[in-house]
Amino acid sequence: MTDLQDVVDSVYQDLASRIGEGKLADYIPELATVDPKQFGLALCTVDGQVHTSGDADTSFSIQSISKVFTLTLALGKIGDGLWKRVGREPSGNAFNSIVQLEQEKGKPRNPFINAGAIAVADVVLAGHLPKEAIGEIVQFIRYLADDETIAIDHDVARSETNTGYRNVALANFMRSFGNLNHPAEHVLGVYFHHCAIAMSCRQLAHAGLYLASAGRNPLSGGSVVSSGRARRINALMLMCGHYDGSGDFAYRVGLPGKSGVGGGILAIAPGKASIAAWSPGLNENGNSLLGSAALELLAQRTGWSVFGQ
Ligand code: GLN
Repeated sequence: MTDLQDVVDSVYQDLASRIGEGKLADYIPELATVDPKQFGLALCTVDGQVHTSGDADTSFSIQSISKVFTLTLALGKIGDGLWKRVGREPSGNAFNSIVQLEQEKGKPRNPFINAGAIAVADVVLAGHLPKEAIGEIVQFIRYLADDETIAIDHDVARSETNTGYRNVALANFMRSFGNLNHPAEHVLGVYFHHCAIAMSCRQLAHAGLYLASAGRNPLSGGSVVSSGRARRINALMLMCGHYDGSGDFAYRVGLPGKSGVGGGILAIAPGKASIAAWSPGLNENGNSLLGSAALELLAQRTGWSVFGQ
């Protein structure tokens, strides 16, 4: 099958009977109110074609997918100096785990687990008020997606601010080791708000296109990062983007990907396309159940796995 719209439609159709499977992320109360019977797909190719199916224009909470964009910003600010504060190894633990943080003296294993993304938020915050840092992140994502309507869902941000006890613990723990330069509540203000950004599959696929296209966004023509940096962010997504389910995602899908507990996944087929899948029901690792299944079928049908056909 070569027509990409047919591929996207066939993936949607083959999974349509399973819409609603999985478990909502109810530890953030506002996310537990989302209708689980939703499923969207969007694919943007590096030559500018866009293919969608299902609920591709419904906004959802991107949650940890935002960590790809904050990592990109932080690398832009301090370059490889970031790796003194955050590692580049898969954690093999849950996204909100604290155990390795003690063993590794406050240095998170990678920028995509919560502790790592909180350290990244601390870097983005440097020299700014929390409001300004949040504004910078939103502006960056709007630029990537070429869409000024993208915004924070303040109900989700408030919900997580009120209940994010684990993240409060992770931030204070890192601060005790000297790996946060700002008060934990300021850093978490930035973190909770970027996790609460709402986007549709179409917007997300568009925003991720620079990673598929050697650091340039072919739709807007703008250069976002160097090709080497895009390649390395893809490597981190492949190794760490699905937490303790990263190995399984690489095995089944074979593409760099980043999931969020809102049920979204951004996957990158380098040199080919940026793909967003969304369905709110999660598997046991906190990754979208149907989203993972959709990307598995899509990678099979396109032959796009980075490991070969
Ligand atoms: N904001 C969420 C949290 O901190 C992000 C987790 C995720 O999407 N995996 O728990």
